Amino acid sequence: MSDEMRQDRSTPDEGNVSASGELNSFAYKWCWGTVDLSVRRAWNPLIAEMITAASVMTELWEHVLSPRQRADLAEGFVAEDEQSGRVAAAFLAGVSRLGEASPSRMVSFGPGKQSSPALDGARTAWREQALQAGLPLPAAGARVRHADPEHIAAAVLPRLTGCDCAGYVDGEQCRNRNHQGLYLAAYALNRHGADILHADTVAKAYRATGGPAWDAVRAALVDAVAHHVGIDARNLVRLVRPESPTALTAFSRLVSQSNSLSRRDASRGFASPHDTWEVVSERARLHAREAVSRMRVAG
Ligand SMILES: [Zn+2]
Repeated sequence: MSDEMRQDRSTPDEGNVSASGELNSFAYKWCWGTVDLSVRRAWNPLIAEMITAASVMTELWEHVLSPRQRADLAEGFVAEDEQSGRVAAAFLAGVSRLGEASPSRMVSFGPGKQSSPALDGARTAWREQALQAGLPLPAAGARVRHADPEHIAAAVLPRLTGCDCAGYVDGEQCRNRNHQGLYLAAYALNRHGADILHADTVAKAYRATGGPAWDAVRAALVDAVAHHVGIDARNLVRLVRPESPTALTAFSRLVSQSNSLSRRDASRGFASPHDTWEVVSERARLHAREAVSRMRVAG
């Protein structure tokens, strides 16, 4: 057994069954988050940046927000207590980029439509290894549906955080009153904050999710973030039950801030999909602490 295989055994999703009912693979680690050709590794796993964003949210909550702001956020979430609100906020910040784990985003590899021999080379190397690891990338040149990653996240998150109601596909909202908060929380991750997502937008995004193979990748990402913050993703409804989208506006802004801080200087600490979970998780916490303390110094 190679070292890489041995290391992979320590990841949190070992033995878990994903939402699609298949055993999780480690393919999720091959989703890219940031591409930077000035770094030898060229790309950072999306999961490393997702858990860093979760840790940034925790740091902001504990060291930047005032007691009043914390109380307001917890109240907006209708959280049982402030601790529940904090953990849920960290988890949601962590999964807010979940929609990037989609065929159209992943095949693009790199910023925008830029092209260069170096980028093409890095993309080819990544693609080969990602396919080998089981990431369900579409065939080269295949037509791929596109949707805004944030809309994809809104479409799939309720199903991954506790709504298991029958008869509703992703993109539709169930009628279970206890689950309405899951939809509100997922929609609040929209970058535009106060904007309220239209149901049609979400339904359209669902058609770009890539099907069951990608559902399994996204379930693994959600489970990894949940493990990082110490909750069971399917029990989110026990922590928070927001009732009004406007009460989550301040939270939406904090999510944007968590993501941008988590990606600042990301290239300094690019992780490898072969790193052990403990290493990636610890580095995320450290990176988050540094990013938030630098922000506080800068005032
Ligand atoms: Zn439901």
